[in-house]
Amino acid sequence: MEMCILCHEVQEILPDGTAMVLAAFVQRSTVMSKNRKRPPHNPESYDPLFMHPDLSFGTHTCSCGHIMHSHCWQRYFETLQSQDARWLHEQTSYDVENGEYLCPLCKCRSNTVIPLLPLTETTCRYSHTNLCL
Ligand SMILES: [Zn+2]
Ligand SMILES: [Zn+2]
Repeated sequence: MEMCILCHEVQEILPDGTAMVLAAFVQRSTVMSKNRKRPPHNPESYDPLFMHPDLSFGTHTCSCGHIMHSHCWQRYFETLQSQDARWLHEQTSYDVENGEYLCPLCKCRSNTVIPLLPLTETTCRYSHTNLCL
């Protein structure tokens, strides 16, 4: 059972239940790069599913761990986007036009959400821990 930080309703994560999401921030990372001099990929020909062996660019995703209903997050995000972008830019340190928002609870800078998947038999089978018992 997880509680939505926006409407405070408690929700069980089920395959056919209401979708729950985590606030998250995804960004380009060169932490693992073996070649920092390579110029950025050409977006026309770049296939994001395949990474060059020099790991020049990777992605880094972090989350504050706060959970919301996907519809509550959508409403929150749309409200942010409907506000005057220039006013927001002056008032805030994040870029709403670029899809950024602050976690409604801890104000952690975020730019995406990660869906929470229910625990299924398949995920249990591959798990090496006793968490699913
Ligand atoms: Zn909610
Ligand atoms: Zn948060």
